[in-house]
Amino acid sequence: MIREYTDTDLSPRNSFHVAQRAARLVEFETADDLRTLFAAGVPERWTVLAGGNNILFTRDYDGVLLTPVATGIEILSDDGRTALVRVEAGVEWDDLVQWAVERGLWGIENLTAIPGKAGAAPVQNIGAYGCEAKDVIERVHLFRTDTLAEETLAGADCGFGYRESVFKHALRGRAVITAVEIRLSHTPAPRLGYGDVEREVAARGGATLRNIREAIASIRRAKLPDPAETGNAGSFFKNPVVDRATAERLLAEWPDMPHYPAADPARVKLAAGWLIDRAGMKGRTEGRVGVHARQALVLVNLGGATGSEVIAFARKVQQAVLDRFGIAIETEVNIL
Ligand SMILES: Cc1cc2nc3c(=O)[nH]c(=O)nc-3n(C[C@H](O)[C@H](O)[C@H](O)COP(=O)(O)OP(=O)(O)OC[C@H]3O[C@@H](n4cnc5c(N)ncnc54)[C@H](O)[C@@H]3O)c2cc1C
Repeated sequence: MIREYTDTDLSPRNSFHVAQRAARLVEFETADDLRTLFAAGVPERWTVLAGGNNILFTRDYDGVLLTPVATGIEILSDDGRTALVRVEAGVEWDDLVQWAVERGLWGIENLTAIPGKAGAAPVQNIGAYGCEAKDVIERVHLFRTDTLAEETLAGADCGFGYRESVFKHALRGRAVITAVEIRLSHTPAPRLGYGDVEREVAARGGATLRNIREAIASIRRAKLPDPAETGNAGSFFKNPVVDRATAERLLAEWPDMPHYPAADPARVKLAAGWLIDRAGMKGRTEGRVGVHARQALVLVNLGGATGSEVIAFARKVQQAVLDRFGIAIETEVNIL
């Protein structure tokens, strides 16, 4: 089923609530819908707008926005130890987490309350509290807009890294994710060693799936602004990954600087939030945009800000960190 909108207001479709417009927006369910659409002529400009929680529109979009709306969740196989689950791209990610928790299936409970659709999860390999989508993704189903063919990509071939995947690089602008297959486990495997999770879970009576979900939802509510009330896109910046010599130089000057091992043992991950805070930008506002007072990684729309105002302010935050530490922080949010 295809549903089309023209000259549509995007403010209810992006978590920053910037009021840009799209020339054409198409809601689709299946790869066949996409084939029908693209067979009629590949639009000059198109992209996927799923839940709009990681996109900042800085101008009206003059091409076609594709929005997945299929919401099926199906158990493909279950041998009593693990279950393979197919999730259509339009499923709300947190509904999937709830679904898994209700069925006693482990693997995505730490990814509770990440806003967005399941089809977007592989794109930046969503992650939180020591877990990433890549830990459970077994296969990704795609529609290739260059060949009009359906393809399946194994998780191992998705180029997953920290907030990275092949969908942001080689397959950018060439593929639409239509469904994701994830492997969940019946065996309890709580992962509590991150932030306050262990304490919050203990306060709820121990490491059950429900307690972990509730604990993480509550920690996130306390730390992050709710996009329904204050426009934002979660972390606006990625944590920078630097070489050891750079980390050591900074640590010599700021011994309390948080730092973590990176996937590459020759590199070190730093906390962009800490760098922004120490560069004096936490809680700073300018006009209708600001750095959130409790979480320096998050930029907020204080009401009526345009995408260009947000990006102009983001550049100032980046410059402040560069001036103070000599570190360039990159944006995590997709800028359109
Ligand atoms: C309050 C808040 C908290 C957040 N916390 C976290 C967090 O803890 N961890 C984390 O990793 N992220 C977090 N995010 C970011 C966001 O939730 C994720 O990036 C999420 O996956 C975005 O989903 P979406 O459906 O809104 O995608 P969109 O914002 O619509 O799209 C994001 C990108 O993926 C592409 N895309 C989306 N769907 C498809 C598809 N089907 N096929 C091809 N390309 C596609 C889009 O073109 C775009 O480039 C947070 C955001 C907010 C607002």
